[in-house]
Amino acid sequence: MTWLRRALIGFAYLLLYLAADQLAPTHLEGGNSLQAWNAAPALSFGFAARFGPFWLPLTFAAPLLSCLLDGSLLSLPLPSLLNAMAQAAGAAIACFTLRPRIDQPSQIKRLKGVFLFFSATVAASLVLALAQGSGEMLRQATDTKPVLALAGGAFLAHLVAIGSLAPLFLVLKRQKGRVRFHISISAEIVLQALALTVIAWEVFGQFINAEIHFFYLLFLPFAWIATRHGQKGAALALFAIYLAPLITDILFGHSDHVIVEMQIRMLVLAVTSLLLGAMVSEKRLAEIEMQARQTELAHFQRMNIGWEMASALAHEINQPLTAAMNLTQAALRLLKSPSPDLERTQSVMRMSVDKIERVGQIIHGLRDFMRKGEMTLSRNAMSDLADEALRLVEAEANAAGISLKSLGLQGLPPIIANKTQIEQVLINLTRNAVQSLSLAKTPDPVVLVSGKLEGDVVQISVSDNGPGLSAEVLGRLFEPFVTTKPSGMGLGLSICKSILEAHEGRLWAENVPQGGAIFHFTLPLAECEAPNG
Ligand code: ADP
Repeated sequence: MTWLRRALIGFAYLLLYLAADQLAPTHLEGGNSLQAWNAAPALSFGFAARFGPFWLPLTFAAPLLSCLLDGSLLSLPLPSLLNAMAQAAGAAIACFTLRPRIDQPSQIKRLKGVFLFFSATVAASLVLALAQGSGEMLRQATDTKPVLALAGGAFLAHLVAIGSLAPLFLVLKRQKGRVRFHISISAEIVLQALALTVIAWEVFGQFINAEIHFFYLLFLPFAWIATRHGQKGAALALFAIYLAPLITDILFGHSDHVIVEMQIRMLVLAVTSLLLGAMVSEKRLAEIEMQARQTELAHFQRMNIGWEMASALAHEINQPLTAAMNLTQAALRLLKSPSPDLERTQSVMRMSVDKIERVGQIIHGLRDFMRKGEMTLSRNAMSDLADEALRLVEAEANAAGISLKSLGLQGLPPIIANKTQIEQVLINLTRNAVQSLSLAKTPDPVVLVSGKLEGDVVQISVSDNGPGLSAEVLGRLFEPFVTTKPSGMGLGLSICKSILEAHEGRLWAENVPQGGAIFHFTLPLAECEAPNG
C-alpha cells in the first residue's frame, strides 16, 4: 500500500469517526449521559479488523481528537483517556481475533466465522461499557446503581452498533493490495433497496416514539437479500439499516422507552441476518469448492487420456516420420544422379512434406486437447476424412495384399468434429483390421469403411473379413492395455472411445456371423449442433 493511499484511508476513517461521534445524540440514562446510536467505536472495530494493527494508534487518537473538539478532553482528561484506551482495545480485539482469518473464506462468510465475530463483538462491547461506566464514576462520585445501568445501556448500544456496522468491513475483498466491495446493480437489487427503504421508513420514521409494531416486517427484505446475495448482501443491508434509527434520533429524538426495545430488535435482526447470510454464503463456497474439485478431476482425466493418446500417437507419428525420412533420402539420391530428374524429385519432396504436415496436425490436436480440454470443431464431409485416413494406411495394406474400400460415404450430410481426431479413429480401426487380416491370411482380404444416416447421427462402420474378435478381449475391448498383439499396447481402442465420447458419439464392436469383426461409431450431424458452422 502506498503512503498516499494509506493517508487517504486514514483520513477517510478519521472523518467518518468524527462525524459519527459528534452527530450521535446524547440521552440521559439515570442521570448519566448515553449515546444510544454511536457508530464511531464500531467503525474503529471494523476498520482495525479490515486494515490491521498498523491503524491501532489512530483508533486511540480518533476518540481523543473528538474529545478535544467538544472540549471534554481538557475539562475531564481521565475519563476521555479511559474511553480512548477502551476503543483502541476493542479495535485490537477485532484486529487480533478476526483479522488472521479475514482473507480466507473461513471468516464471516462461514457459520464458525459468525460465532467468532459475535464473541469478539461481545468482548469489545464489554470493554467499552466498562470504560464508560468507570469514566462516569470518575466524572462524578455517584451511586454504583445508575452507573451500572449506564454500563448496561452502553453495552447494548455497542453490541448493536458493532453487530450491524462491522460485518461490512469483514466482507470487503482484498485484491492486489486494494480493498474492494463488488456488487453489480441489477433490477432485483434496486427493488431490494426500495423495499428496505420503504419498510425502514414505516418502522423507524412513522412510528417513532410510539410502539414499534411493524419491526418484524424488516425481516422480509433481510431474508430476501441474505438468501440472494449471501453474507455480502446481509452485511450491506445491516450497515444501511443502522443509519435509520441514527438519523431519526438525530432528526426527531428518540424517547428513552423505545431505545432499548429498538436496540434489542436490531440485535436480533443482525444475528438472524448474519447467520442466514453465512448459511447461504457457505453453501455457495461449498459449490465453488466442488466445482474446483471437478475441474481438477476433469483436468486429471484429460491428462490421463492425453498420456494414453501420447503413447499411442508416438506409434502413429513414427509411421509418417519414417515415410518422410525415406522419401527425403530418395529425393537426395535423385538429386545426386548426374542428370537429376527435378520433376520427380519435386513430387517426392511434396509427398514428404505431406507426411510431416500430418505429424504436425496430430501433435497440435493433442496439445489443444490437453491444454484446454476443448477441441476445435468444424464441419467435415465424412468421405474426405475417410479418404485421408485410408490414404495413410494404404501402403501397409498394399504390402499385405489387402484391399481398402469405402461405401456410401459420399451421400452423407456433413458432421461436426475435430478433423484430426476422427481421422485418427479411422486410422486406428482400419489399421487394426489390416493387422488382423495380415496375420490370418484370409483369401481376398478386404477392409470396408461404410456409412449411413441414423436419425440425427451418422453411423460409420469399419468391417473386415478376418478372424474376428477373440473371446479373450471381447468383453474388455475398450479398456486400456487390452491387447492380443505381442508388440501391441492395447491403447488404440480406448483412445478411439474417449475421442468419440468427447464428440458425443458412441463406439461399439461385434463379430460378423460370416467371419470378421465390425466396429461402429456415431457422430452428430453438423445441422444438429453446428456451433461453428
Ligand atoms: P492394440 O492394437 O495395441 O492391441 P487396440 O486397443 O487397438 O490395441 O486393440 C485391442 C485389441 O482388440 C487388439 O489387440 C485385438 O485383439 C483386438 N482387435 C481390434 N481390432 C480388431 C479386428 N479388426 N479384428 C480382430 N481383433 C481386433
